[in-house]
Amino acid sequence: MYNNFQKHLKQTLSEIKEAGLYKNERIIVSPQGAEITLNTGQKVLNFCANNYLGLSGNAELIAAAKSAMDDHGYGMSSVRFICGTTDLHKKLEAKIAEFFGTEDTILYAACFDANGGVFEPLLTEEDAIISDALNHASIIDGVRLCKAQRYRYENANMTDLEEQLKLAQKQRFRLIVTDGVFSMDGNVAPLDKIVALAEKNDAMVMVDESHSAGVVGKTGRGVTELFDLKGKVEIITGTLGKAFGGAIGGFTTGKKEIIELLRQRSRPYLFSNSIPPLVAAAGIRMVEMMTRTNELQDKLHRNSEYFIKEMTELGFDIKPTKSAICAVMLYDARLSQEFAAKLLDEGIYVIGFYYPVVPKGQARIRVQLSAAHEKEHLDKAIEAFRRIGKELGVLK
Ligand SMILES: *Cc1c(COP(=O)(O)O)cnc(C)c1O
Repeated sequence: MYNNFQKHLKQTLSEIKEAGLYKNERIIVSPQGAEITLNTGQKVLNFCANNYLGLSGNAELIAAAKSAMDDHGYGMSSVRFICGTTDLHKKLEAKIAEFFGTEDTILYAACFDANGGVFEPLLTEEDAIISDALNHASIIDGVRLCKAQRYRYENANMTDLEEQLKLAQKQRFRLIVTDGVFSMDGNVAPLDKIVALAEKNDAMVMVDESHSAGVVGKTGRGVTELFDLKGKVEIITGTLGKAFGGAIGGFTTGKKEIIELLRQRSRPYLFSNSIPPLVAAAGIRMVEMMTRTNELQDKLHRNSEYFIKEMTELGFDIKPTKSAICAVMLYDARLSQEFAAKLLDEGIYVIGFYYPVVPKGQARIRVQLSAAHEKEHLDKAIEAFRRIGKELGVLK
């Protein structure tokens, strides 16, 4: 049998390559940070990590993780409800709830699991999920695992959302679900309007703060802070794999009965291993650090504003953004690849995205800013963008 299957796989792989969609992985041999070393020996400035607060290499978090290994060991070898819960797991859950001003938190191995395990235990075929068309793959998969009726609205389109809410009045309970920040454009979900529509049309709201926690809002509490909606959203999901240290782990935080039922019924929680104590300990330290000082969030906001202002002044077409994601629009797929390759030659590591990751004719380079970047890093990137922009005729 495998002979035929192998032929089939080889055919599929060559189709992916011919379509120019084959993903090659670059190998990094240094810690994650503003400056990284590739296995070719090349040192580059990293503008494509989700390391928004620069915590991936933070000394305080590394020390917390090391000391947790000394007193709590390496792995848990268990799911939470058997023997995978330590004092560190409970403390991190409480800290995350405190950070977002929510009632309780449940940890997962990743936000992919948090989203995969949130819908099915809570909603049935009598209920409705109303989902933004650009929501993350993990939300889409989580919704697929649930029997609730599905409604989809155009990205951040409140007229469409209201229409879908009207259609969903037939169902018993309604849950609107949205990303906080949409990762390809950097735009923020209009959560104030979403919550208002939810109140008007008898619905609940879930927001995935993966790209916004630590980033958006004055103190990095995410879009619920940006729109002053503390306590007004029933469910928040997020990741420890981006701004919050960048290692691994995810969470759902919100109303306490929701979290309590998830602990009883959520399959990725019940049937997948507990995060290691070192990750929980570093997570606790991370929340303490972010509560103690706003330095990193402030620096990230300064860096993002500076970069976007300079790039706009040079004449680049930048998507409106309120996050640390800056989409430099080039529209043409080939141009986006050529531009990114030339930037890498100049020591600037960014990725050019094109269809089907973004709509046809909407190719772009996505730049992700970080508190790890110093002004000279930003200036070096801006100068490289300027030079290559002129060379390739993007700038006049
Ligand atoms: C990155 C991301 C996830 C997945 O997070 P992991 O913890 O890496 O699984 C989920 N949702 C959104 C919106 C994301 O951006």
